[in-house]
Amino acid sequence: MQKIIAANWKMYKTRPEAAQTAAELALALPDGTPHGRLVLVFPPFTAVDAVAEAFTGKKNLAVGGQNFYPAAQGAFTGEISTGMLNDAGATWVLVGHSERRHVFSESDELIARKTAFALAQGFKVMLCVGEMLHEREAGQLRDVLSRQLSTALEPLPEALRGTLAGRLAVAYEPVWAIGTGKVAGPVEVQEAHAALRALLADMLGETAAELPILYGGSVKPTNASALVGLDNVDGLLVGGASLEAQSFLQIIGS
Ligand code: 13P
Repeated sequence: MQKIIAANWKMYKTRPEAAQTAAELALALPDGTPHGRLVLVFPPFTAVDAVAEAFTGKKNLAVGGQNFYPAAQGAFTGEISTGMLNDAGATWVLVGHSERRHVFSESDELIARKTAFALAQGFKVMLCVGEMLHEREAGQLRDVLSRQLSTALEPLPEALRGTLAGRLAVAYEPVWAIGTGKVAGPVEVQEAHAALRALLADMLGETAAELPILYGGSVKPTNASALVGLDNVDGLLVGGASLEAQSFLQIIGS
């Protein structure tokens, strides 16, 4: 399976800053990417087109939107549509990121609608899941992951379920490891990824083996290669350490 190394730039970078970092990435990867990896960048909305432009003609470099509202258009002040993201050059979207769930109170129900809507619009979806510290400490890891996956995927219409290979990735981001410097240990990561693979197989059958499961949460150049070498870890979703091109390039090559 093609591994995915993804950068979530969150609410960082002006347009010129994003264009500069994207240009550095494109320049450093003139003939594709190490090991044929797929490199994704999720910039803030204002910089999606600038990053897409910097990646024009680049094999294995693509751009995504961090968020959108699941309607074609309408009176939704402050929101952005998949059509607008498509127009700006995005082909992927993030759905269910812990900051959307916990800072912006996105419900499982909204996340399900967003997942189905983006897939129906031809977007590729990176569905983020992960437990909070108190849930892990209460032994609820599997229950939380099961709820987050099943609420997002079980309502998908049959016609979409058959199209998920190559269009759906899952990112496991334990909330307690995001931006805290606390990376999950190899045993914890493997346990969660194996649980996710089994849950996906229960819900989607054979397609589950074809869906990349990424790890995210305090990924750095120093821990990336150990993480990406673990069983069932098909890529990395990187926040802080993706903001500098040199640091992200080290992670891409790890
Ligand atoms: P950090 O890599 O900064 O911990 O962020 C992880 C994340 O939320 C990526 O989506």
